[in-house]
Amino acid sequence: MRRPLIAGNWKMHFTVPEGLEYALHLRHVLEPFADREDIVVLPPSLMLWEIANVLRGCPIEVGAQNASWEDQGPFTGEISPKMLAGWCHYLLIGHSERRQLFNETDEMLNRKLQAAFRNNLKVILAIGETLEEHDLGRTQEVITRQLSAALYGIEARRAADLTIAYEPVWAIGTGRAATPEYANEAMSSIRGLLQQKLGPLAGEIRILYGGSVTPANAATLMQKPEIDGALVGGASLKQADFTEIVRAAAEAVRSA
Ligand code: PEP
Repeated sequence: MRRPLIAGNWKMHFTVPEGLEYALHLRHVLEPFADREDIVVLPPSLMLWEIANVLRGCPIEVGAQNASWEDQGPFTGEISPKMLAGWCHYLLIGHSERRQLFNETDEMLNRKLQAAFRNNLKVILAIGETLEEHDLGRTQEVITRQLSAALYGIEARRAADLTIAYEPVWAIGTGRAATPEYANEAMSSIRGLLQQKLGPLAGEIRILYGGSVTPANAATLMQKPEIDGALVGGASLKQADFTEIVRAAAEAVRSA
């Protein structure tokens, strides 16, 4: 079994003082689980540095929700992967909100992936089909296109630094999670695609499920063999809920 990873995507929530206070609470309650899984929080970039300092010396890692494909230059409003290098552990790339609301294309995401690896960041690459694509039976085609484009030119030796988050867009923030069986099947085909593209090292890549993960469904999702953890949005904003999801991953390890 691959070591699970639970990542909390805070999106555009919390003021800086609220985020710092929340990170301090998380540090206290989540540390006991960190021997069995990786735990990552993805705060807004404004508070990322402060939160990295609050969590320094503790096994909970931090990640950015977005960064440019350039290392520096005249890109007003952007932050660069070079600015994150050395203290921020993860970068989330390809979240459906970035694809849909900020028009990020597969080609841009490939450039972001290359820039993240160039700066030695670990990447969580989010992929997944919209409701329309799902209803048209195009899930496999969409996943294949998104993965192939994002991984274009990426060397197999990067596999250990890559995590895929399979997030059916229709499940994000809707309260309508994919069934564990549906998610497991899609993730099994993602594993096959990763093997085709990156060879045997693809076995090291964790594949997370994302989309309305809650304390009520986390344990059954995590019992599926292809599900190596979760990317959690709404439930990551509530300490009790996020802790229960982290606990479910730790218990999945114990019962494996
Ligand atoms: C997400 O935004 O990545 C996500 C999975 O959100 P939620 O858990 O709220 O569906």
